[in-house]
Parts: sequence; C-alpha cells; structure tokens
Amino acid sequence: MAFSIQNSELLVTKGLIDGQWVDADSKGTVAVFNPATGEELVQVVDMGEAETRRAIEAANKAFPLWSGKTAKERSDILEKWFDLIMANQDELAAILTAEQGKPLFEAKGEIAYGASYVKWFAEEARRVYGDIIPAAQQGRRNLVIKQPIGVVAAITPWNFPSAMLARKIAPALAAGCTIVCKPATETPLSALSIALLAEQAGVPAGVINVVVGSSSRAIGGEMTANPLVRKLTFTGSTPVGKLLMKQCADTVKRTSMELGGNAPIIIFDDADLDQAINGALISKFRNSGQTCICSNRVMVQAGIYDRFVERLAAEVSQFKVGNGLEESTTHGPLVNEKAVNGVAELVDSAVADGARVVLGGARGEQGACFYQPTILADAKPSMRVFKEEIFGPVAPIFKFETDEEAIAMANDTEFGLASYIYTNNLKRIWNVSEALEYGMVGVNETAISSEVIPFGGVKESGQGREGSKYGLDDYLETKLICLGGL
Ligand code: NAP
Repeated sequence: MAFSIQNSELLVTKGLIDGQWVDADSKGTVAVFNPATGEELVQVVDMGEAETRRAIEAANKAFPLWSGKTAKERSDILEKWFDLIMANQDELAAILTAEQGKPLFEAKGEIAYGASYVKWFAEEARRVYGDIIPAAQQGRRNLVIKQPIGVVAAITPWNFPSAMLARKIAPALAAGCTIVCKPATETPLSALSIALLAEQAGVPAGVINVVVGSSSRAIGGEMTANPLVRKLTFTGSTPVGKLLMKQCADTVKRTSMELGGNAPIIIFDDADLDQAINGALISKFRNSGQTCICSNRVMVQAGIYDRFVERLAAEVSQFKVGNGLEESTTHGPLVNEKAVNGVAELVDSAVADGARVVLGGARGEQGACFYQPTILADAKPSMRVFKEEIFGPVAPIFKFETDEEAIAMANDTEFGLASYIYTNNLKRIWNVSEALEYGMVGVNETAISSEVIPFGGVKESGQGREGSKYGLDDYLETKLICLGGL
C-alpha cells in the first residue's frame, strides 16, 4: 500500500540533548523497519555512552529551573503538550503503525491512551500536598514536604512505543523531575515525535532528553552508574529489569520496574459466555498478543470448556491479519522475525507435548513477521506455554474443575502483573480476587488500564505503580522538616 511518513514534520531521526537535535558522536546510524513489509523506513542516530552522559548532565543542569517552577506553570505546559499530541493523533498513529506494526485503530488508541496520562499528571501536579504531624515533644513542629526526586532515566520497550514513554515522562515532569529517555531500537520514532511536541509545548531545554541507540548495554550502563541519576524507571522484560536493578544498587537509585507478565484469564462455569469470549478476544489478541497484560493462560472450567473452545475459535477465524496501515486489518505482524521464531517454538513444543491445534498453529503467509492467530486446546501446566510469556497471537486453553485448583494454577508462576476472572458469583469474585497474587485483577472486564487507576505488578513482574493518585509518589521524595526551640 502506498503510504509514506517520510514527509511528516514529526518524523525526527536525531537525538535530543539539552534542547538540541543532534547526531551520534560517531555519526553512525541504525535502520528502522516496517515489520509488515520489511521496508526500511529511515535511519536514526546510533548514540552511546558519551551522549547519554551529556544528556544526564543536561537534565541535571535543567533540574533547578524546572523544579523551581510553580506546580501551575508545569501543569500548564503539560496541558499544552496534551493538546498538541491529540491535535497530531493521526500522524503520530501512522508513525507508530509504520515502525511497530499494530493496526491504525490500535495505534490511534495508544496515542490517546498515552496522552491521557499527560492530562492526568498535568492535573495531579497541582495536588502534591505535604503534611503536619503533631509533635511528641514540647516546642517542636514536624512538617513533611514532597520534593522531586531529581534526574530520572527511563528505558522503554517497542510494544507501546508512545504510551510507555508518555506514562513515565508525564509524572516525572509533573513532580518537577527532569528526564533522559531511551526508547527501544526497533521503535525510536514514536518517542522522538512526542518529544518534539513537548518542545513545541514549551518544555525547556534539558528537561526532556532522548538518547537513541542500539548499544542498550552502554546506554543503560551509564544511566545506572551515573550518580546524577536518582531514579531509573524501566518497562521491559524481567531479565533486563533484574540486571538494571543490580546495576542501580551501587548508587542506591530508586527504581520502578514494569516487567513481564503471565496473565491467567479464569472463566468459571457460571460466567456470561458472551462477555467471557469478548474479554478473552481482546485481552489475548490485542497488539497480536504483544502486551504485558495479555492473557497468557486461558483457564476454563470443565463444564463449559468445549463450548468455549469452539466459540473462541469461530471468532478468531474471522480476524483479518495484514499490514496495519490497511483499514480492514484487525491484527498486524509481530515486531520482528525473532519474535515469530519464539512463538513458533512455543507452539511446536506444546503440540509435541500433546496440545491440540484447533486453529492456526503455523507462520503467516503475509510476510516474515506474521504468525497465524492460534488456538491450542488440551493445554497442560507442564507445557512451556504455561510458564513462559508467549508474546504472540496464541491462546493455550487449560481445563480446571474447582476454584482451589484454578487459584493454585493461576498463582503457579513467578509473575504477578494482570489477571482476569469471569464469574457472576459474588462470593467467588471476592474470594478469588483476594487469593490471586497479582497487581491487577479484572472481574468480568479485561480493559483494565487507564490513567485514573494504578498499573503495576507484584513478584517478578515488578514494583511501583504508573497512573492514578499513587503514580506521582514514584517520582517524589518525602522530606521531614523538624522545627525545634519554639
Ligand atoms: P527488553 O528486551 O527488556 O527491552 C526493553 C528495553 O530495554 C529496550 O529499550 C531495550 O533496548 C532495553 N534494553 C535491553 N537490554 C538492555 C540492557 N542490558 N541495558 C539497558 N537497556 C536494555 O524487552 P522487550 O522484549 O523489548 O519488551 C517486551 C517485554 O516488556 C515483555 O516481557 C513485556 O511483558 C514487557 N512489558 C511490560 C510492561 C509493563 O508495564 N509491565 C509493558 C510493556 C511491556 P533495545 O531495544 O536497544 O534492545
């Protein structure tokens, strides 16, 4: 299909350091591809450790100015940024689809979703209240104030290249912090385009810096070793998150970690089947299964198991898989061929271990980055698909008999991000929700992420919360001022 983002003013290929759009020191570049077609979209700068250090120094230099602004001044600039993002929603979505692959309607949704955090934190910026604590001694007063933590470093993945960054920059700036961002190598364009709009909204030089480069180890190494950085916020895989936490230990940085998931969706016999099918379709196949809160394990009670499998397969067979830039496409490619190989391996291994392919089960014919939407029945907890994050359009369906068995199966993982249950029994809703070891439980609902509610995981899915009234705390220090001799 003839579509070009090359003429877009929002297509930026340089890094942003101290208010300047700059090349890599080496003048090196790295290619960005459209996963649907394999076409090279553009070359972007390939920065490393030295540029990261300068970006951190710029953020540190800008900190007194930005943190010294009133909350209202910061809020007004964030509001302007929100307006600009929404005014450019279509173009930002086209850039996102071109580099990431998701269908345009999903990309537009992601732009609006990311922007909603900018708006929310523009509002929350004005509500960073302190406290006065009654003193235990005569002649004293205890005051508690909240202050921005300082320079923040942010590392984000390719699956939500716009929203994952907006969700970090917005609370950081609202709190008064400055930030250095590193987007994923596959998808730098979405990050650069929203940074350009932030500049146009009046964010001063050095407050937002974007380092783009394929040497993620070197960039992450500098971000975690540099003592000027006071906090690292990361969204990505659990192994990289653990590594970054270890690296942050030497300078005792605060960390927020949004890591991998292995979400169960538990469908009880008494569930509304239409609702449950709809929930499973959305939560399993959104972004072709490449979200950290995607249902990874579909668990269905024995009484409705066969009916559920048949109905889900009928719905999934209607998907229109293809290039995300085409209007009719409901599901796009995976991000790269490596991702397809990983998904193929997991499916082949499940089939070898006795899973039954009800639908799909093979690579897609549309191109090297496609895998067919797949339903696997008779899945068992001993299979790899039970233990590992699939990150593709594959729904393994497990059978259970009792509530206790469902809870035990659901919790039998090191992950604890999102979980979902479908039931109409109030007692079961409470009991199961409380027993699930997850940061989030969707009850008869899988669309559980928005700016007003806390997003985050427990166990090896991470720590910290993004969004909601709790989200600013991750970017603030609590300081005691004890007045004596009064
Ligand atoms: P990843 O490999 O961990 O990459 C994420 C980011 O980390 C990228 O920017 C990557 O840069 C960078 N990175 C990789 N190795 C690094 C290192 N040694 N030091 C510093 N940075 C490094 O994750 P992914 O496979 O792209 O993303 C998918 C994962 O993210 C899944 O596990 C998913 O569940 C998780 N995720 C979690 C959430 C959440 O909110 N909990 C949301 C979305 C995704 P390069 O691109 O340059 O390698």
